[in-house]
Formats: sequence, structure tokens, C-alpha cells
Amino acid sequence: MAYTLVIHGGAGNITPAIMNKEQEQEYTEGLQAALVAGNAVLKNGGTSVDAVVAAISELEDNPIFNAGRGAVFTKKGLNEMDAAIMDGSNLAAGALAGVRNIKNPIKLAREVMLHSGHVFLSGPGAQEFALKQGIDMAPDEYFFNKSRYDQWLEIRDSDFYQLDHKEDNLKGVVPNTGHKFGTVGAVAVDIHGNLAAGTSTGGMTNKRFGRIGDSPVVGSGTYANNKTCAISCTGHGEFFLRAVVAYDVSCLMEYRGLSLQEACNVVVREKLVAMGGEGGLIAVDAKGNYDFCFNSNGMYRGMMNHLGEQVVAFYK
Ligand code: ASP
Repeated sequence: MAYTLVIHGGAGNITPAIMNKEQEQEYTEGLQAALVAGNAVLKNGGTSVDAVVAAISELEDNPIFNAGRGAVFTKKGLNEMDAAIMDGSNLAAGALAGVRNIKNPIKLAREVMLHSGHVFLSGPGAQEFALKQGIDMAPDEYFFNKSRYDQWLEIRDSDFYQLDHKEDNLKGVVPNTGHKFGTVGAVAVDIHGNLAAGTSTGGMTNKRFGRIGDSPVVGSGTYANNKTCAISCTGHGEFFLRAVVAYDVSCLMEYRGLSLQEACNVVVREKLVAMGGEGGLIAVDAKGNYDFCFNSNGMYRGMMNHLGEQVVAFYK
């Protein structure tokens, strides 16, 4: 009864130089807790969709990650979150963008997928649906985080926006030398051979104008198809959107017969690099092959499977 769960907590300039021992410990524990939560679902014969929700909810509840409780601040000093989930067995998907005060956006994404009759909801409408479905809400204070707030104070009077863990400069993006955090995601194959993918994020610090990244966009930041793979991305969303990253990996497998790893390499290490898009992704296929693929200095990541094997890593 094979299964595999793979997670990420964001990619970017994550190096031993910017992490101290306590931070390494915090991230290790955060990632492990998410793996344990997702593994508990899969071990008991649960679905990959539910495992992805369990793992991501755990990461959303942990303020060190840029999702749920730890979501970054917008230009207006708010927390606006994006999330998506996709079921590879039937290509069902649920997504939301620009939602506030939702404790676990990934749970709302699953509700959208299962009960809204739609795929993608945004802003106040998504919140109205959340209330109707009895989704847990939380006040603004719940999302307040001192280091996130300081991160925002540094750039709020500029037109810059900031990828959560980045130090070099892309046009329009300010360097980030502060504490590193990250968007979260999970992909899984369950004992029934079904794939699922999910991603949840606060987006980019100081984002404006209702900016939405790749994370909730099916095919860009999140994609799952039993025929090919399940993918969750993290990185500079403007590039991942234009490169349609997650679906491109799937297409290379479906139409060109590439292996999971080959397809990830082409998209992340060749195509994205050529465009200047920094970041990475996690991937799994129906046979349980998995990949962590990134072109940045690091990616918070982890894997757990039916054999009891576990991986937790940050750096290149
Ligand atoms: N991809 C996310 C976005 O652009 C950010 C991240 O992965 O850290 O909204």
C-alpha cells in the first residue's frame, strides 16, 4: 500500500548564512509536524486531497510560514491570502484569491472544489461562501506577526514589493535581508494511486492593487493529474504565471514522455532561469517518484512515505 507525501515551505535565498540553529530547529519541527499530519491521513487509507489539506493546514497554523497565520502584509497593511487545491483523479479544483480572516485558506479551497459549483472565488464573495460553509474565521490580530510587520514597514512607503525570501534584485522587487519565511504547499499520491496538489500563500510583502500570484492559479502554481503528476510551486509568482509552470511539467510528461524529474528540470532549471524566474516546486507522480526542484539557493522541503522514510532539508 504505497503512498508518498511531499511538502514545501517556500523557496528563495535560504542559506546557512542567514539561518541560526534555533531557526533551523523551528523550520525542521514545522515541516515535520506537517509531514506527520499528512502521513496520518495517508497511512489510514485517506485520500491525497485530505492529506494535502492536513499537511498545509499545519503549515498555515505556524507563523514562520507565509500562509494563513503568518501571511505577509499588503501595501495597505492587510493580510490577503491565496490558495488552491486540485484532485488529480478527476481534475476537480478549488481556488481562492485575496481572502482575509480565513484561518485555513486550504480548507476553504477544498470547500470551493467540493461544494461551490465553481473553481475560483475571490475577495468578499469567497468570504461569504466561507461563512456559509462554516469555515473557521480569525480576527486581524491572529494574523499579526512582528517580524512580518517589520518586513513590511521597511518597504511600505515605496512602490516595491518583496518575495518572501530573496536578496538579489529583480526589477520592481526590493531585496529582502530579513528573516526568511515562505509560501507552503503539498503534493501526495495515496494508496489508491490518486494524486493531489495544494498551495497556500500570503503572496508578496507590500503587494498592491489586489495582486494575485501563481499559487491559486490552476496550472501555474498548482496542478494535479493522475496521468502525469502533482505539482506545487513557490517563487516569484509573476514569472510562474507566465511560464504556466505546473501545467508545463505535466505537459512535458504527457506529450513528450519525459520522466517527472526530467520535466521538472526543463521547466525550473532551464525555462524559468532563462526568463529570470526564481523559485522551485515539489512534484510527485502516481508511482511515488518525487522531486524537489529549485533554482534558488534553497527551499524548505520535506517528504514522508509508506516505508517510513522521511526527508527534511532547506539548502541546495
Ligand atoms: N509564489 C508566491 C506568489 O508569487 C510567493 C512565494 O512562493 O513565496 O504569490
